[in-house]
Amino acid sequence: MLGKDNPKTSKGEKYGYRTFILHLAPSNLSGNNVCPSASRGCAHACLNTSGLGCMPNTVNARMKRTEMFFEDRERFMQRLDFEIKRSIKNAENATYTDINGEQQKGLIPVFRLNGTSDIKFENIKYGKDKKTVFEYFPNIQFYDYTKIPKRGKNPFPNYDLTFSRSEDNEKFVGQAMEKGQNVAVVFGVNKNNPEDLPKKWKGPTGLTWPVLNGDQSDLRFLDPKKRIVGLTMKGRASQDTTGFVLYGDNVIDFSKLSEYKKRASKDPSILGQRKYGTETFVPIQSRLSKSAANRTAEILRKDGRKARVIEHKPLIAGKTRTAYAVYTPGTFRRFRNQAIMHLSKRSRRPLIVNSRR
Ligand code: SF4
Repeated sequence: MLGKDNPKTSKGEKYGYRTFILHLAPSNLSGNNVCPSASRGCAHACLNTSGLGCMPNTVNARMKRTEMFFEDRERFMQRLDFEIKRSIKNAENATYTDINGEQQKGLIPVFRLNGTSDIKFENIKYGKDKKTVFEYFPNIQFYDYTKIPKRGKNPFPNYDLTFSRSEDNEKFVGQAMEKGQNVAVVFGVNKNNPEDLPKKWKGPTGLTWPVLNGDQSDLRFLDPKKRIVGLTMKGRASQDTTGFVLYGDNVIDFSKLSEYKKRASKDPSILGQRKYGTETFVPIQSRLSKSAANRTAEILRKDGRKARVIEHKPLIAGKTRTAYAVYTPGTFRRFRNQAIMHLSKRSRRPLIVNSRR
């Protein structure tokens, strides 16, 4: 039920923590909805589609677990409780190499119960004492990301929640930051180039917050407060056209949008809005190798969308390099002090990969 071999969570081991993560079938993939506030963009781009998450055996196991959660909640929670105890022992007996390269013994176990779901575990009571999992394990740290705006900051002192921005909950970002909750934002940055994450992000209320690299580890409860947790695209997020993935800071300079558009129309090294015939195109992915860009364009075309692969010259790790961007029909517009991208109706349609969604 609980896994520990996630490439991102295992990055926490060098800091002395082992994350055990519970994955269910996200959104309504199983027929039961485990993500009440999922947006179209996040359901399509969900982490369920990255790494092992798309292998048939993994998908089946997640489906079965989700079925048990809905059909026999008490058995599910008892099983989870048993696995938490077992995982605590597993972490305590583990050896690891710390950030200084020294061998150490005994990791601190931490738990993420909503690896690919958004369930209010704070409301689920079980066992003889009818308590929540956070009360049964008061000395153990739990953490999660949530898209539910009203879930509260930290329902229990040992349960840390990071609010997760999507294209349809952005208006709650300011409120979450005021509550002292950090906000995770997926930026249109290739996962191999986390250094391209923006340093600051201007939220919908016009306030600007510093961005930390959320891919460095998954240990969100250690993050300083009032931060945007910047995440790179993984899985199908790189095909997003809904606005869930924020393309922008690395593509256009919001404050000089009109100047940028003018330059971009003449200079092929600059990314921006471009006209081809009567249609206007905008970049949805950049800094790719030619083959990766062609792959994305192919995926878009298979779905009936127009796509163009265009060479550009971004600055990567201090050097000007040749890279490729994928363009699709749409325009940049100004909206509440921000530039946002409007994609044509056809481009907004998410890829249909599972008819049960
Ligand atoms: S709410 Fe989270 S887990 Fe659910 S579909 Fe969206 S990204 Fe996936």
